Amino acid sequence: MKYKLINIMEDSVLSTINKIAPQLNCCTCEKCKLDLAAYVLNRIPPKYADSEKGSLYTRANHLTAEFSNKLVMEITQAAADIGKASGHN
Ligand SMILES: [Zn+2]
Repeated sequence: MKYKLINIMEDSVLSTINKIAPQLNCCTCEKCKLDLAAYVLNRIPPKYADSEKGSLYTRANHLTAEFSNKLVMEITQAAADIGKASGHN
């Protein structure tokens, strides 16, 4: 197995966006979802790990209820900000 450096927040943010996409008040096409993820990832601290530890860590417990609530809030805010800025709605 090859190791590489990953930001485990990427997975968390993307999966949360997919989960709450229907409630978001903006376009959720593939491009807009990635825009949204980038926006959120620039606002929250990254969490880097090697790819093996990262997947263990993601499966373990960093997605606590408190943390996923925070992500949902950040994503909702980002959707509001980006939704206004882009003509892609
Ligand atoms: Zn779009």
